[in-house]
Parts: sequence; structure tokens; C-alpha cells
Amino acid sequence: MQSHAKQVVALMNQLPKKDELKFLEKQPGNKKFINETNKVFISVINGLRSLVGDVQINQTTIPFKQIEETLDQFLENAAIQFDKMNKLSVAPKQPQVQKSNQPKPKDIYGFADVIQLNKLPFIPVLKCKQYAQTELDQKIIEAQNNPYQFFEKNGIDEFTHPYYEEIMRLTPQDFVLDVPSKINRFRDLEPPIMIRNADQLGELILKIQQEVDQNGYSEIAVDLEHNHQISYLGITCLIQLSTRTQDYIIDPFPLWKQLGDMLSAVFSNPKIVKVFHGAENDVQWLQRDFGLYIVNLFDTFHASKELQLMQNSFQFLLSEYCKKSTDKTYQTADWTQRPLSDEMVKYAQIDTHYLLYIYDRMRQDLKKLNKPNENLNNVPNYYIECVLKRSKETSLKIYKKPLQDQDQSLQIILNKQDRRIDSKSFDLMVKLLELREELGIQYDQNPRYFLPNPFLFKLVESKPTSIQELKSQLGGEKNIHDIIKENLWQFLKVLLEFDEKVPTVEVMQQEQQNTTQIQIEEIQPSIQVEPLKIIQISVNLQKFQNQNTKIVQHSFQNENIELIKDQFQCESPFKLLNVFYDGLGTQIFQSMKEQSQQQKQLVEEVEQQKIQKINTSDFIQLPKLEETNRDQSKELDIRLNNTLQNQHGTKILKRHQKIEQQRTQKSNISNRFEIL
Ligand code: AMP
Ligand code: ZN
Ligand code: MN
Repeated sequence: MQSHAKQVVALMNQLPKKDELKFLEKQPGNKKFINETNKVFISVINGLRSLVGDVQINQTTIPFKQIEETLDQFLENAAIQFDKMNKLSVAPKQPQVQKSNQPKPKDIYGFADVIQLNKLPFIPVLKCKQYAQTELDQKIIEAQNNPYQFFEKNGIDEFTHPYYEEIMRLTPQDFVLDVPSKINRFRDLEPPIMIRNADQLGELILKIQQEVDQNGYSEIAVDLEHNHQISYLGITCLIQLSTRTQDYIIDPFPLWKQLGDMLSAVFSNPKIVKVFHGAENDVQWLQRDFGLYIVNLFDTFHASKELQLMQNSFQFLLSEYCKKSTDKTYQTADWTQRPLSDEMVKYAQIDTHYLLYIYDRMRQDLKKLNKPNENLNNVPNYYIECVLKRSKETSLKIYKKPLQDQDQSLQIILNKQDRRIDSKSFDLMVKLLELREELGIQYDQNPRYFLPNPFLFKLVESKPTSIQELKSQLGGEKNIHDIIKENLWQFLKVLLEFDEKVPTVEVMQQEQQNTTQIQIEEIQPSIQVEPLKIIQISVNLQKFQNQNTKIVQHSFQNENIELIKDQFQCESPFKLLNVFYDGLGTQIFQSMKEQSQQQKQLVEEVEQQKIQKINTSDFIQLPKLEETNRDQSKELDIRLNNTLQNQHGTKILKRHQKIEQQRTQKSNISNRFEIL
């Protein structure tokens, strides 16, 4: 306990002297704000003092006066920080992002307005349904027209699948179930047709529709390329489409806003089978970016499952059925880049070029699975129908924004890693994930890239309580992404809120006195003292400034404290102190708390032993009490003094006085403290 007090004193010693910072007053800082905030802090300190008094430990006293003064000084520092940041915030602040701050397609091609980069649940983007059997849900239209009002009024966070009925009512089509006995071999690779404008796309759609008109059906293979590195939601970068006779590569960027309406004529037409490999993601990207839904999907991934193939990847099917290979490295290439290299185009083309042939071969194999006498449930095409059923499930997948359900996504991460954490850590992790998500939205960047999950787990395990600790847990200054660097304090705040060491304090204003009464709830001992350091305060300064006048006017009012708590989203001034001074609030408070516990213990001891057993050689620490102290403390003081005098004469008292004298002399020499 003494060592903690020593540490606090040592901490105080590290603070700059008042005159060292005197010149700062001349800075055009927000002097009024400093004063007012300072008053609040001082009232907190007064409150603490009234709670525990100036307490002596060994030959050092907790220097409340000094704390007050140094707080004063540091607040000035803080104000300068505020000031600096205010000036910065005049110009629109462009978030710094490492490497990934390349221009985004939505800005280059002008479709940023349709990207739902906000905290609302995802709203389906389609305006009307083609090949509809039921009308488009009116709720979707309502939400599209007035998103914020809609979600305020309605408690839903997910809409029903717009094509649910159409997909569910679809029965297996003959043109899917009947496989020609002789399959045409795949075509040779020839350069694909690039589609970059509405006319070209219109032509393609017309061609497919003409085929439907002629044959009663059509078959296409589809695949998407996607980028999830450079934006929060991710973006579809390419749509590859192959017919039996031609490969097409659709660049969605210049077509973004028309693409959904146009391609819906193909994608929601049940007479056109859409062959994908592993469509689970594609289905959701098409919904998110274009409001496209797939009616009549055949997913070769599900076919490979039904066939119980060794592997289920597209690469495996390609080598099994076509004896071809493809370069996997392009899978993670940056598909937003334009123009695309010939190699990238070729890679993209391969993903659909062979797929209709593979579709034929797989249907053949699925048919062979039905043994002659084994008409499973009297279904002659049992296995193909199984694939269609699974494919239906895939096409019924609903896109959800990543922000929703952090609980759920954490559960998934934990399951994947077979990791277990206690419920408190779980809650903390969810809070950190939520914060990371919010930053993702704010900067339009993928949270998993600027702060990978393992780091979050590290934070939950180590629970850093200072910016320095936090930095080192995140791999050190150099390795921290700029987004995180700019928001370290936010993470620290979340961590401190979950930190059991931080006391929950309720500050209540007393009407007549100028002191503040503090009620302490649960507190756990043990503190770690860190070198003192001002944390960069990156609060919303503009907002703070606007409400600053209120703080000034209503100083010493409860609502003032509420206001500050609200501004900094801090539950208590101590947490606020922590935010300002890197854990100082906790440190001071812990020391105070321990002092008060010691005092209480002392009272008990005094009561119990009634001093009789005390040997003259024992040295008792006496608290030095001020007139503002609580009655209980005064009582203790008087009782102690009386008992001591009664039992042992003046010996101890004299020694106590001598120490007192020495201390006064010391503090006259210097306003610093020494630890003995
Ligand atoms: P695919 O269906 O294989 O053509 O992949 C579609 C998109 O999914 C790619 O453009 C990538 O954005 C993403 N993707 C696929 N595989 C991976 C992977 N192994 N790692 C990261 N991203 C991938
Ligand atoms: Zn794909
Ligand atoms: Mn692909």
C-alpha cells in the first residue's frame, strides 16, 4: 500500500512545475474552458479530501494541494491540445490511411450516393421486381424513401427476401434435369467481349432472351470478382458471364446504377439457369451492390458435395473435368484497378469459361449416382434435385451489413478458432468489435485490415490501461495502422470502462458547501503506475466547443458534470482523468481508497486493542486531518490523540510532531516531494 502512495508521489514529481508552464498561459488557449473544467476537477479532489483527508504515509503526505496545482497545469496543456485540434478541424479533415487511401471507384464513377455506408441495417436496393409472382414488399420502398424515419418507426433489422416466393415455388426444370447423352466439349479460350456501357449490356441481354424465345430456356455461367480491402462494405469489381458460345466480362463501375434493372431480366428469369461455383458470397454481393437476386441457381459447389468429390474448389473441378489449371494468385488481386491487365482478364474469364461444360459433366455424374433399382423417394433425379434444393438455400441468403450482430460474429470467430472466453471478456470483445466497425464506417475501410482480430484478442487478454501499453500490445508505434493511431484513446476508453480497477464514482453536489460528496461503489485494489503522459484527445471538438458555453455557465452544477461526462462519454470524472492523464485518475483514486481503508482499519484496531497492548516502541502513523474532514475522521483523530496521551504520555505525540515539523520545512524548500 505504501508503495502505491509512493508511486503517486513519484508521479506527482514528474509533473512540470507551475512556473515551468507559466508561459503557456500566454498561448491563445481556451482559458475559460480550462478554468471551468479545472473547477470540476478540483471539486473532485476536494471531495476525495473530504472523504479521506490528507493522509500521511511514512514521512510523505499525499499532496492534494499539489495535485490540484498540477492538474491545473495539465489542463492547460490539454487546452492547448484542444486548441491545436480545433484549428485542424477547421479544414475538412481527411483521414490518413496507410497505402489503402487510393481513390475509390464509387468516387471516380460517381455512385457513392447509392452505397449504404451508414449504421442502418441494409435496405434492398431494387425498385421493382421482374418475373414477379408477388409484389415487392411495401416496407422496402418505405425504407428506401425515408431510411432513418423508417428504422426509427420499425424495429426490424432485416427485410424478407424479395424473391422468396419466386425461388420457393420454382420446381426443378426439365432443361436442368435432362442431360444430353452427348456433351459438347468446351470451347477454346478466345478473348472475351468486354462490356462497359449500357448498349453493350443491352445487346448481351437481348441475345440471351432470344435464346430463351427459341429454346424455351437458356443457360449461363456467372462469377464475380470482388474487393474487400479498400472499402468498408466491399465492392463488386467484375461480373463474368459465359453463354454456350461466348464469354463476357462486365465492368460494373461505369454501369453501376443501371446494372440491377438490366441484369434482373436475366437473373430473375426462371427460364435461365444460372450456374455459379460457390455462389454464397456472390449472391450477397449482387444484392448489396445491384439489388440482383438469382432465381434458378445451380451451384457446382453443391454438386461437388453431392458427388462427394475429394475437393470442392473450382480449381479441383477444372482439373478433374477439363484437365486445366488456373493461377490462384489472381484470386486476391486488386480487381478495382483499371485497366485490368490481360492476365487478370484471362483469369476472370476462365472462372466461367469452362463452367457450363463442368455443369453438364456434373449433372451426368449426378444422374449416374441414381442406381437402376434405387429410385430414392420415387425421384428419378434425386441427386440433381438435392443440388437444386441446396442451391435454392444459397440463393435465399440475405445480405446483412457487418455492423449488425457483433455478438454473433464473435461467436463465429470463437467457434472457428475453438477458443473460449469468459462472459466479461466476451462483452469487452463485442465492445471493441463495435468500435472497430464504427471506425470502419467512418473511414470506409475494412476493419479486419486495419485491426486484425488477433490484436483484439490480445487487448482483451492484456487489458492495457495506458496508451503506451495499448501501443505495445498493438505491435508498436510503427506497426499500428493510421486509423488506429488516430483513435487509440477510443480503444483505451472502452478498455478502461471494463477495467475493474477503475472505480465507479458518483459525484453529487452539496447545496451549501463548495465540496463534492463522492459515493464509492465497487472498487478492487492493486494499481499499476505508468509514466505520466498526456493522451491525445481526439474528441469531437466542434461539438465540444458548441456546448462549451453551457459548461462555463453551469459550473458546479450537477448537469455540468453530466455534460462533461456526456462530452467525453465518460461515466465519471475519474475516467475522464484517465483519458486526460493516462490512468492518473485510477492511480490517485486507488491511493485514496487504500488510505481510507487503512484509516478504517486503524479505527478498528484502535477500538479492538484499546491501545493498552501497544508497546512504546511501536510507531503509529497518524493521519493529519484538516478542518474540512468528515466528523468520523475528526473523532478518530481526537480519540487517537487522547488514547495515545493517556496511555503513553507525550512520547509518541512528540515524535509525530517532529516528523510533522520536518515535513513542513521540506515543503517550504521545494514544492516537490521526496520519498524516503
Ligand atoms: P472467386 O469466386 O474464386 O472468383 O472469388 C471471388 C472473390 O472472392 C475474389 O475476387 C476475391 O475478392 C475473393 N476471394 C476468393 N478467394 C479468396 C481468398 N482465398 N482470399 C481472399 N479473397 C478471396
Ligand atoms: Zn465466385
Ligand atoms: Mn472468380
